[in-house]
Amino acid sequence: MKIHEYQAKEILKEYEVAVPEGVAVNSVEDAVNTAEQFYNDGTRLFVVKAQIHAGGRGKGRTKKNNAKGVILCKSVDEVKEAAESLLGDTLVTIQTGEEGQEVKTIYITDGVDIKQEFYLGILLDRAKNRNVIMVSSEGGVEIEKVAEETPEKIIKEWVEPGMSLQPNQARRLAFSLGFEGDAFKKAVRFIHALYRCYEETDANLVEINPLVLTEDNDVMALDAKFTFDDNAMFRQKKYAGLRDLAEEDPTEVEASKYDLNYIKLDGNVGCMVNGAGLAMATMDIIKLSGGEPANFLDVGGGANVETVKNGFRIILEDENVKAILINIFGGIVRCDRVANGVIEAIKDPEIAEKVENVPIIVRLQGTNAEEAKVIIDNSDLNVISAVLLKEAAEEVSKVIAA
Ligand code: GDP
Ligand code: MN
Repeated sequence: MKIHEYQAKEILKEYEVAVPEGVAVNSVEDAVNTAEQFYNDGTRLFVVKAQIHAGGRGKGRTKKNNAKGVILCKSVDEVKEAAESLLGDTLVTIQTGEEGQEVKTIYITDGVDIKQEFYLGILLDRAKNRNVIMVSSEGGVEIEKVAEETPEKIIKEWVEPGMSLQPNQARRLAFSLGFEGDAFKKAVRFIHALYRCYEETDANLVEINPLVLTEDNDVMALDAKFTFDDNAMFRQKKYAGLRDLAEEDPTEVEASKYDLNYIKLDGNVGCMVNGAGLAMATMDIIKLSGGEPANFLDVGGGANVETVKNGFRIILEDENVKAILINIFGGIVRCDRVANGVIEAIKDPEIAEKVENVPIIVRLQGTNAEEAKVIIDNSDLNVISAVLLKEAAEEVSKVIAA
C-alpha cells in the first residue's frame, strides 16, 4: 500500500525524522489561509506540492494549466495561483503514464534553502534476504538512472536480520555522503530514526529523494515515498485508513473486494489461474507462444462458481481482452466441479453477453480431469478444452491470430 507524501511526512515526524513543516489542503481557500497563517512574514519561501502517489512531480506538468507538480512560491498570492493551477487538474509525470492522475490534495510546505541534495532509500533486498539502506550523493535525480550509469555512486549497507542498524553502519553511510561536523551527527541520527520507522511500520520501501543539507546546516527529508507491506497491514491498523483508493487501479480495487489477487497488464490474453506460482508459469507460457497476458489473476484454492464469475467480471472489464485462458489445477478442488462452475458462470447473462466474442480456453488438470474435459467438450458454449498447458497457450495464440 502506497501513501501520499504528506501522510508519509506525518509518520516520519512521529519517529523524529526531520521534515519541513507543512499542511495538506483540498481547496484554494484553505491553501491561502494556511499560507497567511503560517508563513506570511514576507520573507519566506513556500512550496506547493501536488499530492499524487506517483513520483517525478517536479518535472511533470498538468494537462489543462501546464503547471509543474512542485511549485516554489514567494508570496501568498503565488500560493493562491499555484493552488488554482493544480487543484482539479490532472498531473502527468513519467510515473503516471499518459492518462495522469487528478490532483485532489496539495501540500503547502515550508520552503528550505538547499545546499546539497542526496538520495536515501531503505528497502528489502530479496536476493540477500536483508534490508538494505542505499545512499547516493546524486540526489534529486532518478536513482534508476544512477544505478544504470554510475552504480559506484550508490553506497549500500545491509542490516543483519534480527539486529538493528549498527552505529558504525549509519556513520559509514553519512560519511560516504561527505557530511561533516554537526551535519554529520544530524545525518547519523536521521538515518537511525528513519530505519527504526521503516522497521516498526512494516514498510517495505521508504525513499527520501531528495534528502537535503540546508543552508542552515540541517539535514531534512524534502520528499518521502512510503510503501507498506500489504501482508503486515493486519498489525498496522492505525495506518490502514491512509489508503487512497482513488490512486489505485479501479479493477484491482474491485478484485481485492472479492479476495482475488489481480494485477492488470498490457496484453490481450486474460488469465484465470489458481495459485500464484501456476499463474506466473501460465503467463510465461502465454508469452512463449507469442501472446501477451492481459493480467495476473490468482483465484485462490476454492475456484467455485462465485469465484469464477467474479474472475470473469474482473477480466472482462479490460477491453483489450481477446481470449481467456483458464488454467486450474484440481488438487483439493475437483476438476469436474470447476468445469461445471465455469459452464455455470458463462451462462450468467451478464457474463454470457460479454464472452460472446471472447473464446475461452480451459485447461483443468488433477483430480477428475478427464470427467472435466468431457463436461467442457459437451457444452455448446464458446469454450475450448486443452490437456497440456502448452496446447492451451497455442490455442490462445491461434484464436487471437484468427
Ligand atoms: P518529485 O519530483 O515528485 O520527486 O518531488 P520532490 O518533492 O522531490 O520535489 C522535486 C524537486 O523540487 C526537489 O528535488 C527540489 O529540487 C525541489 N524542491 C522541493 N522542495 C523544495 C524546497 O523547499 N526548496 C527548494 N529550493 N527546492 C525544493
Ligand atoms: Mn522526489
